[in-house]
Amino acid sequence: MARHLITSAIPYINGIKHLGNLVGSQLPADLFARYQRARGNEVMFICATDEHGTPAELAAAKAGKPVAEYCAEMHDVQAKIAEGFRLSFDHFGRSSSPQNHRLTQHFAVKLAEAGLIREVTEQQMYSKADGRFLPDRYIEGTCPNCGFESARGDQCDNCTKQLDPVDLINPHSVISGSTDLEMRETKHLFLRQSAMKDQLDAWIDSKTDWPVLTTSIAKKWLHDGDGLQDRGITRDLSWGVPAQFEGAPWSGMEGKVFYVWFDAPIEYIAATEEWTEKTGGDWERWWRTDKGAEDVTYTQFMGKDNVPFHTLSFPATILGSGEPWKLVDYIKSFNYLNYDGGQFSTSRGRGVFMDQALEILPADYWRWWLLSHAPESADAEFTWENFQVSVNKDLADVLGNFVSRITKFTRSKFGEAIPEGGTWGDQETALTEELSTRIRAYETHMEEKDIRKAAGELRAIWVAGNEYLQAAAPWSVFKTDPDQAAAIARLALNLIPLYAVLSAPFIPDAAELMLDAMQTEDRSWPEDVKTALTALPAGHAFTTPEVLFRKISDEEREAWQDRFAGTRD
Ligand SMILES: [Zn+2]
Repeated sequence: MARHLITSAIPYINGIKHLGNLVGSQLPADLFARYQRARGNEVMFICATDEHGTPAELAAAKAGKPVAEYCAEMHDVQAKIAEGFRLSFDHFGRSSSPQNHRLTQHFAVKLAEAGLIREVTEQQMYSKADGRFLPDRYIEGTCPNCGFESARGDQCDNCTKQLDPVDLINPHSVISGSTDLEMRETKHLFLRQSAMKDQLDAWIDSKTDWPVLTTSIAKKWLHDGDGLQDRGITRDLSWGVPAQFEGAPWSGMEGKVFYVWFDAPIEYIAATEEWTEKTGGDWERWWRTDKGAEDVTYTQFMGKDNVPFHTLSFPATILGSGEPWKLVDYIKSFNYLNYDGGQFSTSRGRGVFMDQALEILPADYWRWWLLSHAPESADAEFTWENFQVSVNKDLADVLGNFVSRITKFTRSKFGEAIPEGGTWGDQETALTEELSTRIRAYETHMEEKDIRKAAGELRAIWVAGNEYLQAAAPWSVFKTDPDQAAAIARLALNLIPLYAVLSAPFIPDAAELMLDAMQTEDRSWPEDVKTALTALPAGHAFTTPEVLFRKISDEEREAWQDRFAGTRD
């Protein structure tokens, strides 16, 4: 039995994510986790909320809540939506957990012992009224470039110019509004990534099977300009993992926390430790190669914007610690999903957000469309027309219609049990051969995380059953040879649990309905198609299911198109 550690990039805590976020990490990771479990492998599937940093503090302030309370509430909201999409995490953790605090500080100490952390003194904006240093996003003022009055210390949202807080005209504190600001000397910790450049470069070179999207981004950061730069890993905030703690090999870091990009990936490990607290399981056998993780295959899923952190920064932390932590084996990265001729926009409420999607249709409809259109080789685009066609054709006309047609036919001619009589002929042999070939191809695409290809093969597997039924035409054969019609129905009814098992990673709810209808709990993978297609014997009772997938009407499509065009209500 193979062992698969699977992590999805962790979503930021402030607000509900849109479908583009979902298809860029959590959903494909879930597909892969479900597939590996279906093959009988041992899986640890981890995700969490990324809770530290300035945006969380600002969002909490806007909501009028203490940041810890705000994060706890938003974590529950995101966990509930994840459940709605049937994301099968073994644990959905929180980067603010005590486990992550401890591990983040542990890694910082190990990196310092290895000489990979340096202290840097720099000038930073200090607010006398607030009694604290202000991170860039806590300072606003007028943009020197376009005159926009609410430009942030790091960037102007109006003209997108990158800024330094000192560039702003009339800068003021976002917290108190005070303009009594001055530059003061302060100290921060930097991770010496530049010292690890060659080691990281060689490691990336050894990953010849990774997607080009992943390696090209890593290589760009390693070599463009002056090459890989050291990065500040502390910030002047109170919400986060304290940078000054007992046993810290530095002093004077009071009032500072580790920067969110340093502690967030460590949460993959910490979340597994949180899982231990919940279940009593052993997290170290997934993460420590000296404690049982040497046979683990570790796969990460993420959008392309997260690739630098996962190919360089987090490996620098792991390798730099000098301890036997499990390094990632494969990084599956995604391009962006655009929305109906533009981009999803959280601030403008443009596009479909995860909670809204579940209000209008069940999870399987979205899962199927998103995965079968995953932005793998290029950016992809969600359009309502394409969504409607895909749902109506693939799910309703092909899969749903097949299940409905054969169960209804059998019920009307033989009753609700698998009929007896007749034998397989050439058509049945041809179908089993086609299915065998296609299922092996499907397995290969799934193992290689080629998600669109896997979806295409699954669709072809559904189509093969439909075409068989159409050609074999048991409703005609029944008139002259009821035994032969029974043999056709028997095979076709056995296709339903076969389809359920193969389709479950994509559409888990429909798969359960199909297994329920066939009154079987056998979820074994069809290693041999002929065996699978004779698994349910004559006389085995079934029930005729309700409609598996309903069609989307033109009126609905138009109404949804209007509703999600912008400005979320
Ligand atoms: Zn501007």
